[in-house]
Amino acid sequence: MKKPSIMAVLLFLTGLLCIVSLFFFTKSTTEQIIATEKDVDTVTEQITAKQKEFQTAQEKYTAAVDEVQNNINYFKQKAQTASQKQEKEKADISEEETASKPSVFSQADASEPDNFSADNGHVVGIDPGHQGENVDMSAPEPIGPGSSETKAKCTSGTRGSFTGIPEYQLNLNVSLQLKDVLEQRGYRVVMTRTDNDTAISNKERAEYAASQGSEIYVRIHANGTDSSSASGALAMAPSQSNPYVSSLFDQSNRLSQCILDSYCQATGFQNLGIQYTDTMTGINWSTVPVTILEMGFMTNQNDDTKMNDSQFQQTMVEGIANGIDAYFASV
Ligand SMILES: [Zn+2]
Repeated sequence: MKKPSIMAVLLFLTGLLCIVSLFFFTKSTTEQIIATEKDVDTVTEQITAKQKEFQTAQEKYTAAVDEVQNNINYFKQKAQTASQKQEKEKADISEEETASKPSVFSQADASEPDNFSADNGHVVGIDPGHQGENVDMSAPEPIGPGSSETKAKCTSGTRGSFTGIPEYQLNLNVSLQLKDVLEQRGYRVVMTRTDNDTAISNKERAEYAASQGSEIYVRIHANGTDSSSASGALAMAPSQSNPYVSSLFDQSNRLSQCILDSYCQATGFQNLGIQYTDTMTGINWSTVPVTILEMGFMTNQNDDTKMNDSQFQQTMVEGIANGIDAYFASV
């Protein structure tokens, strides 16, 4: 046998070494890959958990932003209404000024409005009934403290059969004028709404009026019925046996009587008397003497036309204000 050359032996040994090291290299790499895969799995799990956390945080953040945005919108709307009113008042004042007084007095007079009497110490809460149809108030709320019976937070009311004007608009028009007249007489006035877009329920209105120091709570409404011949004004008060506010019966009854009588005297509308009710959320949640004035029937031509005449509204408002004066004179 031919002795293998040294070269061949060396080549063989080198080859063998290569194969062995390749084997160990492959083994350790596979182990590393498996370990890395495990690591990747753990990291993936961690990432998924973090993603979930982040999602929850994002949802919370979005809800908070929504709420803040809603609040901002609400205050913007309020500020807008206030500034519109201010501008209107300014415009009214400057019109009067230019018409009747030399311009030198304008500034002094504008800074001190003269249409406000001295504070007479009384606070009146006014609730212009209902709100615009675009505001969803269908969610239920209890009709009185502790009651399991519920009613929609608010409804959108009736509409003038002849003028086409919605009740919520008429109620707001009259209420804003009533506010002005009462302020001229020295009352402080709390309004539950000053526009048609505010979403405030009947319960919330009653609570808000009382929380702002109102001594009485006057709810302004207009009636509607199937018969176009029904006409005239009526007031609503809690009954003597009302389960929530029977303690307010006497004062609410007197308040209703004072306002209804003065209103009918001023307007010449038929006086349909007081109706006693225990199912009105806005009455049952009141903590101060409360009344609803149903100013007339929007389904009656005479009532509807008159109630929506701006001149006649002044008469209506004077009548209501006289009733409020009479009430405070009696307590
Ligand atoms: Zn109404």
